[in-house]
Amino acid sequence: MKAAEMRAFRKTLEAVRSRLRGDVSTMADAALGRNGDEPVGHASTMPVHMADIGSDAFEQEFTLSLMASEEDTLELVEQALDRIRQKTYGTCEECGGVIAKKRLEALPYASTCIRCAEKLEASSFRPRQPR
Ligand SMILES: [Zn+2]
Repeated sequence: MKAAEMRAFRKTLEAVRSRLRGDVSTMADAALGRNGDEPVGHASTMPVHMADIGSDAFEQEFTLSLMASEEDTLELVEQALDRIRQKTYGTCEECGGVIAKKRLEALPYASTCIRCAEKLEASSFRPRQPR
């Protein structure tokens, strides 16, 4: 992944992290932008406070669906930021393959490629990751 791309994802992740830290108890039916062609549940989305974010990182099509709890999501975000620091961001933790950029745009803290995520979901090896 290019450094500029990684910077953009880091910005997004940092914005998500500060929102999770500052506003973990408020839930709202606000989606961050429109969905592409990937179906994402609308039942649980995160509150959006664009003024607090103050960043154009969210202008990309990007929807956060909270299938895990905020704490779990925060943990995933922290791990993703770690991977950016170690420059392994965008690499699947299971198979070492490349995580599609489209998947990362929809789910910036994804740690596995879509194929591994589906496998893990099927085996219930670890908590489900939203797609
Ligand atoms: Zn994989």
